[in-house]
Amino acid sequence: EALKNEDLFKMNLDFEMFFTRNIYRRIRDCWNRPIASAPGAYTDLVDRVSDDCNWTFRYTGTKTNCLNLGSYNYLGFAENTGPCADAAYQSTLDYGAGTCSPARELGTLDVHKKLEALVARFVGKPAALVFGMGFATNSMNIPALMGKGCLIVSNELNHASIVTGAKLSGATVKVFKHNSVKSLEAILRRAVTDGQPRTHRPWRKILILVEGVYSMEGSLAPLPEIVQLKKKYKAYVYLDEAHSIGAMGPTGRGVCEYWGVDPADIDIMMGTFTKSFGAAGGYIAANQDVINYLRGASHSTTYAASVPAPVAQQIITSMTIIMGDDGTKEGEKRVAQLLDNSRYFRQRLTEMNFIVYGNEDSPVVPILLYEPGKVTSFSRELLKKKIAVVVVGFPATSIVEARARICLSASHTRDMLDYALKEINEVGDLLLLKK
Ligand code: PMP
Repeated sequence: EALKNEDLFKMNLDFEMFFTRNIYRRIRDCWNRPIASAPGAYTDLVDRVSDDCNWTFRYTGTKTNCLNLGSYNYLGFAENTGPCADAAYQSTLDYGAGTCSPARELGTLDVHKKLEALVARFVGKPAALVFGMGFATNSMNIPALMGKGCLIVSNELNHASIVTGAKLSGATVKVFKHNSVKSLEAILRRAVTDGQPRTHRPWRKILILVEGVYSMEGSLAPLPEIVQLKKKYKAYVYLDEAHSIGAMGPTGRGVCEYWGVDPADIDIMMGTFTKSFGAAGGYIAANQDVINYLRGASHSTTYAASVPAPVAQQIITSMTIIMGDDGTKEGEKRVAQLLDNSRYFRQRLTEMNFIVYGNEDSPVVPILLYEPGKVTSFSRELLKKKIAVVVVGFPATSIVEARARICLSASHTRDMLDYALKEINEVGDLLLLKK
């Protein structure tokens, strides 16, 4: 209590220095590692040596080609060959690499209009709007939809972009336990009944914020139950499909298709293009009134540049393939391959006695490492075998739930997966990770 602001500031700096000099220096080979190729099934990791404590690195000029189990390249469209790359290349020649303007000024291109119509058709909503960045799609649109006097009910493990949007909105935010329908209902019931006369509705709007597939858990939102509650308590649902659009459901249309939920029952469908489409940016799909309103009210259409044309073209081409509108079965094949890979990989890990989180059909497969110290060892041992994985620990997870987060891809072959499984099995024995 006796500490002044300056003392706290100083302590914080001291901690930063301590962390950078003593801890991060020893483990930083596991993060912030540049790659020098497309984030495909294989990718080139740039070799480097660290030579000071200021987050700068000396690069050796050599690279290591690694099997990539870390990028969100669910359907294999991040590869730099094929129809998507060709279309993006042609689009760069036609439009250049940037739009140099927000959508509301000179930044709306004819390809954006085409893309918005395609997104709306793909996800099954009347209209859609696209934005230059997935993070900003949440953090800038939630505040446009909600404000003072509104209630947001948010899953405790929602992504930072959703949490930021909720905070910025000025609405009251209540958090429910991860995927607990009971916890969600308890909050909704209290919100509309506690101390209120029967006829009075205390909140201007109530919005339930959930994700389709949770990116650190591999778990799925229990959408049918959430829709029932939304109807019972007259709330709205905002669904972030960053990790599920393209990757879940028999035709890749996301968790609504997976659960058999009518898209009409989800008020706001949000998603990003950085995963299944191998591109960048985000979308909101909703009814025409909401889209018209957001086109004017969202900060991301007014104060941020729109999606570059080659990126939009990459999305249009990959989405067209997923929908089968290119006249081939390629999209269907990729969606089926991803599911097959996800089930196979998860099942084999379970048979090896690893503890694996998440839904059996999810392409996100978190392998539990428990102890923070094993996070770096797991990453390093696999890098020795030329396998790149993403490892995460506190504060992104609880202190005892450090994990490796594997993302599967349709472009992984069975041979690649078997190689990875063999090596992970050995590292699991070495680090005593199994049940
Ligand atoms: N929502 C979720 C659920 C995410 O996981 C992410 C990022 N992985 C985002 C939004 C932000 O998307 P982007 O990386 O495309 O900006």
